[in-house]
Amino acid sequence: MRQQVGTNLPKVGSYNQNVVLDAIRSSGTTSRVELAERTGLTPQTISVIVRRLLAGGLVREDGAQPPAGSSGGGKPRTTLRVEPTAGYAVGVHFDPGQIGAVLVDMAGTVLAETRRGVHAGLGPEEAVALMGRAVRKVVRAAAIPPRRMLGVGLACPGPIDQELGLVLYPPRLAGWDRVPLAAMLERATGSRVIMDNDATAAAIGERWSGVAKNIGNFAYIYMGTGIGGGLFLSNQVYRGPFRNAAEIGHVVAAPDGPPCYCGNRGCLEAVACPAAMVADARRLLAGGAGGALAAAYAKDPGSVDHEALCGAAAAGDELARSVVDRVAAHLSNAAVSVTNMLDVELLVLGGPALGAVGEIYRAAVAEALAARPIARHIHRVPVALSPAGGGAAAIGGASLVFHHAFAPQLTTLLSPTAPAVAPRGAHQ
Ligand SMILES: [Zn+2]
Repeated sequence: MRQQVGTNLPKVGSYNQNVVLDAIRSSGTTSRVELAERTGLTPQTISVIVRRLLAGGLVREDGAQPPAGSSGGGKPRTTLRVEPTAGYAVGVHFDPGQIGAVLVDMAGTVLAETRRGVHAGLGPEEAVALMGRAVRKVVRAAAIPPRRMLGVGLACPGPIDQELGLVLYPPRLAGWDRVPLAAMLERATGSRVIMDNDATAAAIGERWSGVAKNIGNFAYIYMGTGIGGGLFLSNQVYRGPFRNAAEIGHVVAAPDGPPCYCGNRGCLEAVACPAAMVADARRLLAGGAGGALAAAYAKDPGSVDHEALCGAAAAGDELARSVVDRVAAHLSNAAVSVTNMLDVELLVLGGPALGAVGEIYRAAVAEALAARPIARHIHRVPVALSPAGGGAAAIGGASLVFHHAFAPQLTTLLSPTAPAVAPRGAHQ
């Protein structure tokens, strides 16, 4: 591990600028007075920074209004908000089953999106060609000024080496060993590419424009083809010194459960990923159970996939519901462990595998977090579903770009080698 390091004044300046921008973003609209209260910076510093943000086009100032509670006297107060058109980013989600892309503005609004399935056994070259096509498609559809395009964020299955932009032996992509995906996508698009694993990207998306906008400490459980996690602790993404933190999918949720490909037994992913759920349902159906799903299974066993299973559970099919309830119980076990370990303020569930049963999971996990963590008498941890639905990782991918450019990051402030984060203005 590195020694504790100090920092120099130029870095403090850009860090403070990002602190102010972050405070404006997370509050929606705010005033200079409130900014000083929230950030602890002096009114003079706030005033200088806001002037710079306005000049850079990153922030918009709305008309003067009298201060709240005044009868018209006193100095009028103007409100500040992030300028949505200041910059745009494309988020790409690469999943073993599909490729999606979204174009998002600074406020997190999705302006264009595309998604397509991909065949099993897809190689890196073909995948990058499809991603490049998806990027061009959303950029064309949104018709934004090219100079305001800040870059491309790529969310892909872990494990990855973020610094080198490599995908490292992903368990569900045979032959993808140390693929330099970020560099390949940069060549294909001509844009700068920032890469992260899908779960961390989704968590950053939630912090940028979703349910965790104002939350400094939260855990995100991402349910896709596999199960991943993302952590924000003390307002910073937490990755761990070797960047493999938050592997919530490999927390033991069922001690007597099946072996996992990681070498452990009873991992959350091994008992709760879509493939495990479908296998569980088919085992029960083969045993001759009744119900709507059983009728579909009798006609064509192949029709019982994850989507059909979740749909049947949401519609009240008993067998399907029993499979989903088991997953909800495993998920609750993992969520209680995460909460006990990290003392977070919020737990977020997101990702495409929530399907039609997200609310069943949310309710079960919320009930567990109200009854089981040791600190429950001090504070209760709410559970939120990501509003981004199946697009959580793609939207997260786009927010990687904004986060990298604009979020106040201690790693940058305290890095002895990295340059300070320059305000990447809209007009560069
Ligand atoms: Zn595992």
